[in-house]
Amino acid sequence: MRKTKILCTLGPATESPEVIAELIAKGADVMRLNMSHASHDWVRMVYARIREAASASKREIAVLMDLTGPSIRTGDVEQPWQLQVGDTVEFRCKPEVTASTHYSVTVNYPDLGKDLKAGDIIMVDGGMIQIKATEVTQKHVIGTVLTKGEMKSRRHINLPGVPVRLPPLTQKDYADLDLGVELGVDYFALSFAREPGHIQHLQLLLEQKRSKARVIAKIENQQAIQNLDALVEASGGIMIARGDLGSECPIEDLPLIQRQIVERCSYHGRKVIVATQMLESMIENPVPTRAEVTDIFNAVIEQVDCVMLSGETSVGRYPAKCVEVLDTVISRIEQKYPSGRFASDAPLKTNKHKTVKAAILLANSIPGSKLLVFTLRGVMAHLLAHQRPEFAPIFAFTPNLHVSRTLVTARGVQPFVLSFVEGEPEASIRAALDLLRRDGHIKAGDPLVILSDALYEGVNVDAILLQEA
Ligand code: PGA
Ligand code: MN
Repeated sequence: MRKTKILCTLGPATESPEVIAELIAKGADVMRLNMSHASHDWVRMVYARIREAASASKREIAVLMDLTGPSIRTGDVEQPWQLQVGDTVEFRCKPEVTASTHYSVTVNYPDLGKDLKAGDIIMVDGGMIQIKATEVTQKHVIGTVLTKGEMKSRRHINLPGVPVRLPPLTQKDYADLDLGVELGVDYFALSFAREPGHIQHLQLLLEQKRSKARVIAKIENQQAIQNLDALVEASGGIMIARGDLGSECPIEDLPLIQRQIVERCSYHGRKVIVATQMLESMIENPVPTRAEVTDIFNAVIEQVDCVMLSGETSVGRYPAKCVEVLDTVISRIEQKYPSGRFASDAPLKTNKHKTVKAAILLANSIPGSKLLVFTLRGVMAHLLAHQRPEFAPIFAFTPNLHVSRTLVTARGVQPFVLSFVEGEPEASIRAALDLLRRDGHIKAGDPLVILSDALYEGVNVDAILLQEA
């Protein structure tokens, strides 16, 4: 059983029911709907197809809606510009400002002239074009081109190291959020999360709308890294958004930042997703580069919860092949390297944490053992995953469909929906073992470490049981 989960971004290359079913068959665990590129009609259609394909495959699949957030973009240019080193470019902060240079374009962020100062670098299109600001006023920013390139309409802008005062969410995000709540997505990802307040705002909004979805903070710039601990604590998990991070931070820092984020997630017991360019070359090619395979190795060794595919599956030529490559490479590495030491410095804050730790110590000391957890709200199961048992897989049983779907993202967890037999824990355990036997997960004599806080109705006891299958 593979522990590291696979997250796929859906798009034109993967919208058909057949391809969605193929991704699931090859091992996709979580589907991402990227609201930067998706219309509401498309999302409705694809969401229904995911749920159908998942239930046909008898596997739980989680859906993550990725909110665009407040990114800075240029406006329209009539013709693509062929910029040369030394050219002068103007960014107009408001549409009513008149152009004062040949190359002049509006931006969607009126405070650009307030946040920047002369000397700051403006990265256009993921750093393909770099421009150094020379004159900054409230009305416009004038800059000199440092690297030549073609600039088209509506390009994404990064401002490395510049604290921006963008709001946490845009009007579009609020509308997208309502759609996600209506459909019942399991996770929302918040792009460009910079402060814990942004996450709390979104989580509160979801509670008001009676959604049980969890919030993943996308770490995409230096502001977020400065607030890392608070962001990790405030969120249900973190996405290491290496695409934007690579433009917003010195590129040589990127692996260090990845390692640092994973460590903070391990300390605080939060999910962590490694995103972007895992198999970038496979957008065009049927085989990965050697460097990509080694990048996957690194993420698995870091014991992250999920690795993510973006363009590889949304627009790439070999989406199913990409999932297959991830599945085989990850499985191979996990066979060779057990989990361990991941959360060894994490504080055991509550008695629940300590009970979970005790169960894991027990499972680690019994070769071939498997962990079973009975959980109503998923808490115990998420805690088990965060403390990373060395070898034992975690089978989680919950009567709640949504809880089982959120558990799909947790490293090493395989969730099952199971209604508990009230007041009869033995009957619930028997039913769970039947399910595991049916799917070939256990055989007679397997040592099972069973953890539960949910079996004894009315009495709050955390129990660890050791028995043979
Ligand atoms: P994006 O986020 O794909 O929404 O830009 C991921 C990243 O920046 O890496
Ligand atoms: Mn991004």
